Amino acid sequence: MTETSNAAPAAAATAPQATSGVQTAPCYACGGTHGEPAGYRWWGPGSLMSEVRCLDCGVYFNSKSGESNGPWILFWHMFVFLVGASGVAAWLLLR
Ligand SMILES: [Zn+2]
Repeated sequence: MTETSNAAPAAAATAPQATSGVQTAPCYACGGTHGEPAGYRWWGPGSLMSEVRCLDCGVYFNSKSGESNGPWILFWHMFVFLVGASGVAAWLLLR
């Protein structure tokens, strides 16, 4: 009978992340690749645009592209404004 000694190497543990947060595309401001989910921003839910806050420099950016979401937020506000304005106009015309 051969007895197989089953000394399992314990080194294959899951590597713990040294830094908290999630892996992201390189930050447009500093090149860092770690951010924390932005949660709810002043303009709406940050998760809508994969927005994270850079753990290195603190700016908000898109975790997939690494770019700022600023232009999109501006676009979103114009869209909301136009929808709202047309809604008000329709209400004024149709009442
Ligand atoms: Zn950064």
